[in-house]
Amino acid sequence: MMVFKFGGASVNSVERIQSVGHIMKHQAGEKIVVIVSAMGKTTNALEKVVDAFFAGKKEDALQLFEQVKQQHLTTAKYVLVTHYLPCEQQLKDFFTEAEWLLHDKPVRDYDYYYDQVVCAGELFSTAIVSAYLNEIGVNNKWLDVRDIFRTDDDFRDATIDWEYTSSKIQHSVVPLFAATNIILTQGFIGATDENESTTLGREGSDYTAAVFANMLDAKSQTIWKDVESVMNADPKQFADAVSIPELNYNEVIEMAYYGAQVIHPKTIKPLQNKGIPLYVKCFFDPSLPGTVIHDKPVHNLPPIIVLKEKQVMLVMSSRDFSFIGEQHIGHLYNLFEKIHIKPNLTQNGAISFVCVMDDRAEKIEKLALEASVFLDVQVVKSLSLLTVRHYTKDVFEKLTEGKMILLRQQTPETIQLLLQ
Ligand code: ASP
Ligand code: MG
Repeated sequence: MMVFKFGGASVNSVERIQSVGHIMKHQAGEKIVVIVSAMGKTTNALEKVVDAFFAGKKEDALQLFEQVKQQHLTTAKYVLVTHYLPCEQQLKDFFTEAEWLLHDKPVRDYDYYYDQVVCAGELFSTAIVSAYLNEIGVNNKWLDVRDIFRTDDDFRDATIDWEYTSSKIQHSVVPLFAATNIILTQGFIGATDENESTTLGREGSDYTAAVFANMLDAKSQTIWKDVESVMNADPKQFADAVSIPELNYNEVIEMAYYGAQVIHPKTIKPLQNKGIPLYVKCFFDPSLPGTVIHDKPVHNLPPIIVLKEKQVMLVMSSRDFSFIGEQHIGHLYNLFEKIHIKPNLTQNGAISFVCVMDDRAEKIEKLALEASVFLDVQVVKSLSLLTVRHYTKDVFEKLTEGKMILLRQQTPETIQLLLQ
């Protein structure tokens, strides 16, 4: 048994959906759980729908949603012939589910509405891809993962109820393999015990795939991407990025922790716990070797570079020049937890505490406001945070040339710099 995950970019166009078909045709006989993300930028588009809805702009929300609907119907029309009508009906049921809600007025938290609307992206894409595969003879069973993955109600960052989900997988998913080799479903989404949809955090479908792999004792997980393999830096930011053929779990956890966009940070643990190898493969050319991630030590890694843009630095100082103590810091961490925000870097001084965070404007404002009750708060925006693992002097010099370094933290393995 294997688990495959196709990201949004791999189902972004008619041709790409067809290449998924091509890859799946070559897996004849294998039992595979296939997770498919929302198409292309659908999740971002649905975020805009939620924003408009929550801002009270119902007409805008409905219109933005209409665009998403039309894109999916058009794609379905292009890829499907014999299976179009049932797929269209399935899509229309999902549309109705979302529109029902958009006609209401927002009375609950933003995050709640976010999950109810954004989950649609994965439902649409899987409905189309599943129908397409069936049409070309890759028989598969479509599954609503919300019937399997039970979570708490921490919307947008829901935690999986491990026991319930694992028992559901044993009792409701495993038996399906008696009648089909391929089960096709969504990542990233789940549901509470009250059947409210939840999401597991952006890019969460890698994680869903890993949870399936763990609970099914899969022999491997493969993430199909639009890149050749895992690279030592984002090739969009660094033209000389190189491929890394082999990595171990710990290195990937570190990379993800520092913000590398390769694999969702939560993905590794479920695989590591069962020693399941993770392959990152290119869906344009499955014959390329890609990257394998496992538990063996890997030597001679190139410098691994992670650049996070849109960072904000908060400098929080005591008002009376007294030392910043455990009490202040304790307070601040309580605030982080309450606001659901995580520092990417922190530094303690005698009378100030510095933290660097992603610029989620609404949350930063809230944090600054609440912290200013007991500390002076200064906010500096538009910074970038550079992390280099296995750094060398050359790389360091090249990356910092002409930049102002506002903050620097260093261990023998990793260096982090806040740049302006
Ligand atoms: N569609 C979701 C996102 O774009 C989840 C995923 O693709 O992993 O974040
Ligand atoms: Mg949680």
